[in-house]
Amino acid sequence: MEQLTANVWVHRIDAGGFPTVAALALTPTRAFVVDTLMRPQDMRPVLELLAARAGARRAVVVNTHHHWDHVYGNAAFPGFDIVAQRACPRLILAHADTANESVPLQPPEGVPLPTVTFGDRLTYSDEPESVHLIHTPGHSEDSLVVFLTGARLLFAGDTLEWPLPNFAQRDGKDVWIHTLRQLKQLPVALIVPSHGPAMGRALIDANERYVSGVYEAVAAAKKAGAGRNDLDLPASAFLDDDVVLDEVYMEAHRGNLVWAWDEV
Ligand SMILES: [Zn+2]
Repeated sequence: MEQLTANVWVHRIDAGGFPTVAALALTPTRAFVVDTLMRPQDMRPVLELLAARAGARRAVVVNTHHHWDHVYGNAAFPGFDIVAQRACPRLILAHADTANESVPLQPPEGVPLPTVTFGDRLTYSDEPESVHLIHTPGHSEDSLVVFLTGARLLFAGDTLEWPLPNFAQRDGKDVWIHTLRQLKQLPVALIVPSHGPAMGRALIDANERYVSGVYEAVAAAKKAGAGRNDLDLPASAFLDDDVVLDEVYMEAHRGNLVWAWDEV
């Protein structure tokens, strides 16, 4: 695992072409595991580091939202508290039932549901660190971020993503923009998105520009008569000049255009 700060490590895997992160953050009395990736065995390095470093700390597993690349490894943590936003368990069950071919089958071990849920915010005070789990709808109804106030570090789940976010919540635009503006109020120094490198606050502005820009451009194109599948809106119009997209993110952008067309 890669050590990011004195008390934070990340483990990166490839999930269907998307680089994807699980993390471990130690506070004085707790060990937070953020997301469980695609399969229980993906979490082996995290379990090994927990065993080596956590000592008597109480482990808390956090699911940032219900998508398969964030929760399918939950079975690696039997008997642990698994914490998520209130809508997450229902959405995991619905996600498993979906006919959507982009959702893989659950692992043979199954996907244990979160055991602790909350509405807007859940705070673990652990001086000198405090860990806030904050509901941040937009990418999905149940999305949350994990903010470490002492380290000024934000695990963003898929609420923030590099090089561009994936649209996945119906009627998500306004809530997402609202969420992004709220995130700007936090004194964040380092952001760890689930997909993409650790980076600074500029990621929030970049994602806001992309989300609002895509919806506005698609609405204008639709009004002018453009069909669902002939939107000619290259991603570069909504991203900084130096961003180069690979095929996976070009496809994600095309998916976002269609998604926005259906919504506006
Ligand atoms: Zn997601």
